[in-house]
Amino acid sequence: MNNILALDTMIAEASRISVSVHIHPDGDALGSGLALVSYLSGMRGKDAVLLVPDSVPESLAFMLEGFGEGSVLTCNQDLEGVRERISGSDLLFCLDCSSFSRSGEDMEPELRSSSAPKVLVDHHLNPERDSFGIVFSETEVSSTCELLFRIIKEMPDVEGDLARLPMECLESLMTGMTTDTNNFANSVFPGTLNMASELMAAGVDRDRILSCLYHNYRENRLRLMGYLLDRNLEITPEGTAFMILDRAIQKRFDFRQGESEGFVNLPLAISRVRMSILLTEEEGRFRVSIRSKEGTSANLCAMRYFNGGGHEMAAGGKLFFPGNIPSPEGAKAYILKVSEEFLAK
Ligand code: 5GP
Ligand code: MN
Repeated sequence: MNNILALDTMIAEASRISVSVHIHPDGDALGSGLALVSYLSGMRGKDAVLLVPDSVPESLAFMLEGFGEGSVLTCNQDLEGVRERISGSDLLFCLDCSSFSRSGEDMEPELRSSSAPKVLVDHHLNPERDSFGIVFSETEVSSTCELLFRIIKEMPDVEGDLARLPMECLESLMTGMTTDTNNFANSVFPGTLNMASELMAAGVDRDRILSCLYHNYRENRLRLMGYLLDRNLEITPEGTAFMILDRAIQKRFDFRQGESEGFVNLPLAISRVRMSILLTEEEGRFRVSIRSKEGTSANLCAMRYFNGGGHEMAAGGKLFFPGNIPSPEGAKAYILKVSEEFLAK
């Protein structure tokens, strides 16, 4: 039996379904999670809920419009509710991460120990296949939203007819694909453009989505971007561009999670830059975002030096202090060393 039919049967046999996504959810995580919840509840009549490990960034809150109060549970607001939900679920999905290890420390143990059947839908490298009954894993797609789009389209009750799906489902898929491609700037495949075209033909208002995504920030974001590029950005002789968004700068610009989305891509515009790294200070660690150009592996760099991973040219991880570096002030020296070692000829 192919995966689609197996999935169809699994859904038919389940009644309470929970969908989990990765910590620090981005547009693709939320988009794929919401689209799946919309399909499962709207088309299949299931009790389906999206479980988010931490909070939804303000800049993506518009994505929840059209979804009922109970459709999304977040660990930071209702940890007990999330735990009860997982233990009472008879089918679990893991979206936009290669295993439950990116579900955050609150949810991971509950998800792993659940006896419910588990399904993975993801586009990252190295999926943890053994933890799932069904695995949909492809790296030659723009986003989890694109992979989920293809899966949902093939479901027997949809038969390729997008008009049968709730508009929230179609819009969520378009939104997640748009953010993961950085509005069609990277990871675009022929299927990605087909998807966009089909969604628009089915009535998705792309202009509205673009306006919500890109014309709706606080002024602080742009001022912070300008500050980082002018005062903070450094480029090593080997071609590593880096910016360090430490606590002092966060305070100065009243920084909120999600407001630095896309910043790490900007230095790639410079010809001699081969790799770009953005460090964002958090409690006891920096969150690390890495982007690279063809021929340099952001994924390898994230795995080797930053306790992380991701895609070939877009990856991320963490840098702990005092574990990896003595204190936040040691970040620059660490990056200089990484650059020298990793980009050495
Ligand atoms: P971003 O820089 O947008 O936060 O993340 C870029 C990519 O790296 C995403 O595909 C994300 O899944 C991956 N990534 C970010 N942080 C981590 C991490 O801590 N661990 C792993 N394994 N991947 C990460
Ligand atoms: Mn993704």
